[in-house]
Amino acid sequence: MDRQEQRRQMVKRQIEARGVRQTAVLEAMRSVPREAFLPTHLSEFAYEDTPLPIEEGQTISQPYIVAAMAEALRIGPNDKVLEIGTGSGYAAAVLGEIAAEVYTIERHRALADEARSRLRELGYPNVHVLCGDGTLGWPEHAPFDAILVSAGGPSVPQALVEQLAPGGRMVIPVGAEVRDQRLLRVTKQPDGEARTEDLGGVRFVPLIGAAGFAEDAGAPSAKRVPTPEPPVAHLVREACQPFAAIDDVELGPLLDQIGDARVVLLGEATHGTSEFYRMRTRITTELVLRRGFDVVAIEGDWPDAARIDHHIRDLDYPIREEPIFTRFPTWMWRNREVVELIAWLKSHNELIDDSRRRVGFCGLDLYSLYKSIDAVLDYLRDVDPKAAEIAKQRYACLSPWERDPALYGRAAISRGYARCEGPVVEVLRDLLERRLEYALADGDRFFDATSNAHLVAAAEEYYRVMYYGGPDSWNLRDQHMFDTLERLLEFRGPRAKAVVWAHNSHVGDARATEMGAARGEHNIGQLCRMSFGHSAFSIGFGTHTGTVAAATDWGGPMAVKRVRPSHPTSYERLFHDAEVPAFLLALRNPVREAVREELASPRLERAIGVIYRPETELQSHYFQAALPWQFDAYVWFDETHAVRALDAESARHEIPQVYG
Ligand code: SAM
Repeated sequence: MDRQEQRRQMVKRQIEARGVRQTAVLEAMRSVPREAFLPTHLSEFAYEDTPLPIEEGQTISQPYIVAAMAEALRIGPNDKVLEIGTGSGYAAAVLGEIAAEVYTIERHRALADEARSRLRELGYPNVHVLCGDGTLGWPEHAPFDAILVSAGGPSVPQALVEQLAPGGRMVIPVGAEVRDQRLLRVTKQPDGEARTEDLGGVRFVPLIGAAGFAEDAGAPSAKRVPTPEPPVAHLVREACQPFAAIDDVELGPLLDQIGDARVVLLGEATHGTSEFYRMRTRITTELVLRRGFDVVAIEGDWPDAARIDHHIRDLDYPIREEPIFTRFPTWMWRNREVVELIAWLKSHNELIDDSRRRVGFCGLDLYSLYKSIDAVLDYLRDVDPKAAEIAKQRYACLSPWERDPALYGRAAISRGYARCEGPVVEVLRDLLERRLEYALADGDRFFDATSNAHLVAAAEEYYRVMYYGGPDSWNLRDQHMFDTLERLLEFRGPRAKAVVWAHNSHVGDARATEMGAARGEHNIGQLCRMSFGHSAFSIGFGTHTGTVAAATDWGGPMAVKRVRPSHPTSYERLFHDAEVPAFLLALRNPVREAVREELASPRLERAIGVIYRPETELQSHYFQAALPWQFDAYVWFDETHAVRALDAESARHEIPQVYG
C-alpha cells in the first residue's frame, strides 16, 4: 500500500469511524505525510493508531487526537491559530492545511529547530515556529482565533485566555496529575468571559513552564514516585505477569493475546540459553494442546529437521546413514532441551492415529546445500531414476565447492566458471512440473524433495550474493525462511498453524530495529507481520546475566561463557531494574498502555548469537531497537544458564532414530 492509500485508510478507520466529520480536517489528515515527522526507524508505523516517541523523550500525538482537537477548534480558512508544543511539527502542519496562519511554540530547542526546517522543506510557509515557553503565549501575534495546546498542564494559563480573540476557542488538556488530564474547550465570549466545556479524558506529556508544571514533572521525582527507582521499570513491574517456574507459569493470558493467530514466532536472545529453550517448549506444547498448532518450524536445516519430523510422526522413510546436526553450531539443536521437546512431540503424536494430523517438524534455514542435493537425488532415484541422472549432472556444477560453499560466490563471478543458477533452477522446475505424477505416489516425500530443491536454489543464490556483502544475503536467507514457512502452511492446508523457533533477530520486526532502519535488512518476523497481519504473533526473549553456550570464533569450539550484566542504557537493564526474576509482558495489548508508550523510546538491545565476545560486547552485541514495535509480547529471565549441549555419542544414545 502506498503512503497516500495508507493515509486514506487511516482517516477512514481511525478518524471518520470515531465521528470526526469536518471536511477541512479530514482533507488535512489525508494530506500531511506523518512519516516525515518521525525518526526514520519508526516511519513504518506512521499510520498506526497510536502516539509515537520522538526526540527529547517527547511524543508525536495519535492521528485521531490531532484530528479531534482540530475539529473541536472549529477553525476557518482565514483563521490565525496558535499551537503550544510543536514537538515534531506534525499537528502544526495539519493546522497549516486548514488555517491561514499558524504560530507554534516548542520549549526544546532541538525539536523547534528540526520542526522548523522540516516544515520549510515540506512547504508550509504559513507555519511559524518559536522556541520558548508556550504557557506565556506569543503576544506579538495575538489575538488568535484558535489555540491548540498539545501538552497537559495543571490549569489553563491566563496568558493564553487573554490572547484569544473574542469568540476564539482554545483546546487544552488540564489535570493536576502528570499524564492524566481532561481535555477542555475554552471559548471566549464576545463579552470577554471564558466558557469551559469538558471533552473527555486524555493523556498528554506534561506542559512545562511558568504557568505549567515544574521542570522535573515527567522525571522520576521523589514527589510522584515513592521509591527512587526509574519509573519505566516500575511500570513494567506493575504491568508484567511474574512467574516462579517455567513448568508452572499460567499461559492463559498469553494464549488470549495470541488469539487465533496462525503463526507464533518464538525468539531467543542467545543461541545457547536453557531457559529460552524450555520456555519455548512450554509455550509450544500449550499452543499444540490448546490452540491446535500442528507444525514446529526451526532456524535449522531442512534435511536435519526432517529426521526429527519422521521420528515424531512415525513415518517410514529410508534411513539415512549420516548423523544430523553435525554442522557448527552443533549445540543449537543437539542438546538436552531439544531432546525433551522431541520426546514430548513424539508422545503427543502417538495419541493421533492419522499421520497427517500429527504435529510436524521442519527446518527453515538454507545451510544444507549438499545434504539437500543428496536428498533430492535420493528421492529421484526412487521415483524416477532417469530424472535422477539428469539432476545429478546439473547439480555437479556445485560439486567443486562442497568443502567450502562460500568460495562458490567468488568463483561464480570470475571468468571460466559457469554460474550454477540455471542448472539448479532447472532441477526444481522439472520437479514441480511433475508434481501431479510424483505427488500422487507420496505427497509427503514429494514435498520433502521439492523443499530441498527450493533450498538448493536459494542457497546457490545466497552464496553468490554473500560475496558482495551488504544486506542482500541476510534478506535472501530470511526470505527463504518465510517462503518455506508459507509453502509449509499451504501444503498442510488452510487450518495449519505454525510455531517458529528462531533468534530474536529473525522473529522481531526488523523495521523496529537498526537492522531494518539503518541497514535495509528485513526478517521473517517482519515478513510474517506484513503478510499475516495480526495473525502473526511474535514473542521476544531476554536476560540480564548468567551463562551461555557460545563460541569465540565461527567454527570454533563451544564454551560455557559468563554473560556480562546488561548495559546501563539497555532494555535489559530496564527489565533488570524491575526486580522481577522472571516475567511475561504483553506488548501488543498491554495491561497498561503507558508501558508500551514508555518502552517505545529506542534503547540498546542485546543479541548474542552462536558467537559471544564479552570483551567487545557493546560493539559486537548491542543495537538500537524500539522493543514494543519489534515484539507482541516479551519473556524475561533475569538470570539464565547455558543450554545442556550433548556430544554426538550421548545424543545418539538419547534418540538413535534422530541422532544416530
Ligand atoms: N504537536 C506535536 C506533534 O504533532 O508532534 C506533539 C506534541 S507533544 C505531545 C508535546 C510537546 O509540548 C513536547 O514536544 C513538549 O516539549 C512541548 N512542551 C511542553 N511544555 C511546553 C511549553 N511550556 N512550551 C512549549 N512547548 C512545550
